[in-house]
Amino acid sequence: MPSDRRVVMQDQAAEDFKAFAKRYGGVFDLRAFDHPSSPQRWIGEILGGLETLTRSYVGDRNGRGEAYAAESGLFENMEVNGAASRRSSGYLFGMTLGVPLRLANATLLLAHDEAFEPRTTAIDYLLSAPPSAEDPEGFEAVIMEAADPQALAWSRSMTFFSVGFVWMHEAFHTLIGHVDFARDILGLDMDELSLTANDPFYHEVLQAMELDADGAALTNFCLTVAGRPRFGICADGNLDPPYRVAQAAEGAFIALAAIEGRRSALTHASETSHPWPSRRIASARGLLSTFERRGHLPKGTMVELARRIERLLPHIQNPQILSLLSVLTTDGKVAEGDAGRLSELIQLGRSELKVFEETSFAPRVRLNGPSN
Ligand SMILES: [Zn+2]
Repeated sequence: MPSDRRVVMQDQAAEDFKAFAKRYGGVFDLRAFDHPSSPQRWIGEILGGLETLTRSYVGDRNGRGEAYAAESGLFENMEVNGAASRRSSGYLFGMTLGVPLRLANATLLLAHDEAFEPRTTAIDYLLSAPPSAEDPEGFEAVIMEAADPQALAWSRSMTFFSVGFVWMHEAFHTLIGHVDFARDILGLDMDELSLTANDPFYHEVLQAMELDADGAALTNFCLTVAGRPRFGICADGNLDPPYRVAQAAEGAFIALAAIEGRRSALTHASETSHPWPSRRIASARGLLSTFERRGHLPKGTMVELARRIERLLPHIQNPQILSLLSVLTTDGKVAEGDAGRLSELIQLGRSELKVFEETSFAPRVRLNGPSN
């Protein structure tokens, strides 16, 4: 359980978390999710599972011979979705409590086939409001009304994949060398929020790292279809591989849609360091379709994904989110993002690339698809 881990968190690490959160006007959340009466207990279980997964990397050595150490946790009252940084005790990463709570509620409402008020208004709010916002009046009743057993089951797996995507995105910033690269080569503190620099070269590199973290989260977590639980987790009992992969990808895209929905609210976050979410969606979609074409993903994955996203669209009011998700339902030639994503990294100089490679703890891409 996450609470167990938090109890044994080293004092120094807890201090690091507190200082980090305070810097952005939030607090480090030490509350346990596992009170027996908590309706959100299963969110705690999901987060505990994700922590277990990322902690399995602890002790791995990178190209410099350094052992990986990280503390992960939840922030409260922060407007940012997640954060990754480096502190005295090793790496630090986490997400804001509002992210899993909002995604759990959004997926609960999205589980229903018919879209009608007041659910659509609530979905719009959940995908657009910053994680720290207060829920509006009457909101609890809308959620309770939607919480039937079937919707809850769907919401649980979608919460797992959407929260998992955000969590692993942050984890991979620490695991594949981004944080070290930003610090050692760019001289920046990689805090998600504070990625501001005056040099446009920095912005390009930082954007490439964002797309890289998205790709790593997708390929190492959401898309693993067999075995190796360390690198991926299979979805529910449905054994049809395209269904399972598309389900995982749908969760990731729900998370990305929520990021797009609240982008305008994040006025203090630099848009120069993070790619537009439409580009993140195009990149992730391009990665998936390329993998399917190359036989790394089951045939039919993209068709199944399009079908699943199509079902969500009547629930979506926000025109920005709607246009973003609509892209996923078409066969049209959308930018095949992975080639562009990699070429952006290749633009780095030799010595920069060397540092990037040396600071890597995790494989950049690991799929357990049929041709692996
Ligand atoms: Zn990031």
